[in-house]
Amino acid sequence: MPSETEKAACKRKTRYGNDFAAQQALKKINPARRAKMPSRTYKCTVCFGYHLTSSAKK
Ligand SMILES: [Zn+2]
Repeated sequence: MPSETEKAACKRKTRYGNDFAAQQALKKINPARRAKMPSRTYKCTVCFGYHLTSSAKK
């Protein structure tokens, strides 16, 4: 079961249909324009899509 934190994160994040699309989006992010850069993708347990995160933990 997804936690409330995961549900809230899912709501405000962009959803990608697959890991490849998420990886491509990650590459397009300009580091100079973002204070907190997403560094990896993860499979969402709420929507079963993929999101980007700057968090190192799983
Ligand atoms: Zn999600």
